[in-house]
Amino acid sequence: MKLIPLPAFDDNYIWMLHDGRKALVVDPGDAEPVLAALQREGLKLQGILVTHHHSDHTGGVDRLRNSTGASVFGPAGEKMPEPLQRQHGGDSVQLLGLQFQVLDVPGHTAGHIAYFANIPHEAPVLFCGDTLFSGGCGRLFEGTPQQMLASLSQLSALPDATRVCCAHEYTLSNLKFAVEVEPDNPHLMAYLAQCQAVRGQGLPTLPSTLDTERKINPFLRSEQPTIVASVRRFDAQGLTSLGAFATLRLWKNQYR
Ligand code: ZN
Ligand code: FE
Repeated sequence: MKLIPLPAFDDNYIWMLHDGRKALVVDPGDAEPVLAALQREGLKLQGILVTHHHSDHTGGVDRLRNSTGASVFGPAGEKMPEPLQRQHGGDSVQLLGLQFQVLDVPGHTAGHIAYFANIPHEAPVLFCGDTLFSGGCGRLFEGTPQQMLASLSQLSALPDATRVCCAHEYTLSNLKFAVEVEPDNPHLMAYLAQCQAVRGQGLPTLPSTLDTERKINPFLRSEQPTIVASVRRFDAQGLTSLGAFATLRLWKNQYR
C-alpha cells in the first residue's frame, strides 16, 4: 500500500492510499490534485472518506464522485454533499481490502469522525481530519474541551506505530507553542529540529506516529506535571476552574 499526502490550498493535505490499481482519498477539499494523481499513477478511485463538514475537506467530493463513481463515506451527524453513506462511531468501511473503523471524535465540529485501519505487514493508519495535528489539536468550533479531550484520549490509545494522517501542515507553528509550554522536553526539541529540516526541503512533516505525538504533543500530555505547571503560570484561575486541557487550548488560541 502506498500512502501519499496530496497538497491542496495553502496547508491542507488530501491523503491518498492505493494498492497500485485502486485508491481511496480522505477529505478532498479540491478535486484537481486528486484527479491529477489518479491519472499520473494510473489508478481507479474506489472510495472517498470524509471526516467533517468544513469546505476545505468536502469541496471536491461532488466532482470526484461524478467523474469516478467512487463511493462516499462521511459523518452521520453533519451536513454533507449528498449522496453519501453516513457513518457512526463503531461502524466500519471496507475499501482496498482493508477494514476502516469509524471513531466518533467530536470537538473541532460536533459530528467529526476519524478512520483507523490495520494494514497487513505495515503500520496502521489513522485519518483524523482536524482533530489531532502533529504537535497540536483542532480548534473547538462546535465542541467542548471535555469532548475534545475525550476524542484525543481515544486516538491516543491506538497502537504506537499508527501513522497519524492529519489534514493540515500546521506542525512547525504547533511546535513553537509546544516549546513555550514544555521547554525542557528533549523529545520535543529533537522533533522540532527534525521537522525544521524536513520543511526546509519543502517536504511534509506528516504522517507522524502516535508514539511521537504522545511524547511531544502538549494536548495529549495536558495532565503531565510540567505542563500543568506551565498552564498555572499562564492562568492559575483558569487552571482551577476549567482544567489543564481547556486552559491550554485557550492559551494556544491567543498565542502568537
Ligand atoms: Zn475543519
Ligand atoms: Fe481543515
